[in-house]
Amino acid sequence: MITMKFGGTSVGTPESIRQVCALITRELARKPVVVVSAHNSPNVRMTDTLIAAAKAAQAGKPDAGKVIEAQHWICRGLDVDPETTGIARLLERFDKLLSGIAMIGELTPRTMDVVMSFGERMSGRVVNDVLRREFGVKSEYRSSITLGLRTDHNFGSARPDPRCYPAVAKQISDLDAEVLVTTGFIASTDDGQITTLGRGGSDYSATIFGAVVGAEEVQIWTDVSGVMTTDPRIVPLARSIPELTYTEASELAWYGAKVLHPATMQPAIEADIPVRVKNTGQPDHPGTVIHRSLAADADARTVKSLAVMKNVDMVTISTGRMFGTHGFMSKVFDAFTRNAVDIHMIATSEVTISVTIPQGDNAEKAAEDIRTFASVSVEKGLSLISVVGEKMKGTPGTAARVTKAMAENNVNIRMISQGASEINIALVVEGEATRDAVRALHRELFE
Ligand code: ADP
Ligand code: ASP
Ligand code: MG
Repeated sequence: MITMKFGGTSVGTPESIRQVCALITRELARKPVVVVSAHNSPNVRMTDTLIAAAKAAQAGKPDAGKVIEAQHWICRGLDVDPETTGIARLLERFDKLLSGIAMIGELTPRTMDVVMSFGERMSGRVVNDVLRREFGVKSEYRSSITLGLRTDHNFGSARPDPRCYPAVAKQISDLDAEVLVTTGFIASTDDGQITTLGRGGSDYSATIFGAVVGAEEVQIWTDVSGVMTTDPRIVPLARSIPELTYTEASELAWYGAKVLHPATMQPAIEADIPVRVKNTGQPDHPGTVIHRSLAADADARTVKSLAVMKNVDMVTISTGRMFGTHGFMSKVFDAFTRNAVDIHMIATSEVTISVTIPQGDNAEKAAEDIRTFASVSVEKGLSLISVVGEKMKGTPGTAARVTKAMAENNVNIRMISQGASEINIALVVEGEATRDAVRALHRELFE
């Protein structure tokens, strides 16, 4: 079996949905489990539109109009009947949900997950219907919720509970179908509440389903030809990378390469399943294969890719007496843990600790906690750029090239660190310098 995940951009228009169905039919022999995202194109930004409608409802203006219009545009372009596919019923329910939100004027993370789930639940029905009607494939749709995919109660970024996997696998193998179409991004708790895995979470669903069914391969179909040397929206000269190790891909995903949700690699690593990232618009391009170790004849490049994470905060904690006061570090980290803040990068000196963290309310709360025992300054709107490659280990000189490229382009490095694993050199720059910094690094390391 294989898992084929199609991102929002791959199911964003009627034409691209037909292309997706054609790609699925090429793989029927390998019994694909198809994982879809919500429609995402300039015409239909479904997840964003659902969120905007919910926020407007909370502010007293419930209006499902834009969501209905967008979904109908997709359905019309493919002759999908909203009634028989169950899409009309979902849209009615969404409309009622908005009235409910408006009535109580409250939008909790739990309700937001229900709101966002409609996108994947509608696009899954569309893809399944087109496969059956236009392509004559014996396809079945089951949402990941119906299949029994369970998570914890961490609404907005839930984590799967692997104890449910055998039952999900059983449900899938009991289906008498050539293709199963299911939903990315969403799942539910064991008491039946809908959860989501975090924005961009369908990549993570793809590897979760891969692990559930013991797939021989997970394919992630998107709008670029694989994982590239950096985000091609920042550097148009970025090239696709033929091969990455699990470690390299995890590092890139965690440090902001949007092509893979941060947690994507984890289930693939645990089950040792190769992940292939491919372009729906250019299906014959080999894309990128991610696996445990590189083939002997693989590209020997030291640096593989640059990941960029914008909008990070830098928190600097200082005290005159950091060293010699046992337990100071642990108090600092406790404060971040208590407020559920992930730390990306740490640098210390005799009197200060600097950490970078994602922007958000919790960052403020953690800073408040730390203020009770040390002085804290928070700087917002920085960018974290990570230079990733396993072969940097034992190859001297990359850090020197990085700092030289920054100096020559007048980019001020605010913070820099290289982990002992030597697979990642991370640097923090001012938000406005991001583009220049990434372009200069890309020139130095790849062009
Ligand atoms: P999908 O809808 O398929 O999930 P996303 O928009 O989530 O697609 O992810 C694909 C986008 O990720 C690309 O269009 C590209 O702009 C961005 N991206 C960021 N970093 C990279 C990278 N290193 N390689 C490829 N794409 C990247
Ligand atoms: N539709 C969800 C989002 O926009 C999940 C995904 O696209 O992977 O975040
Ligand atoms: Mg994505």
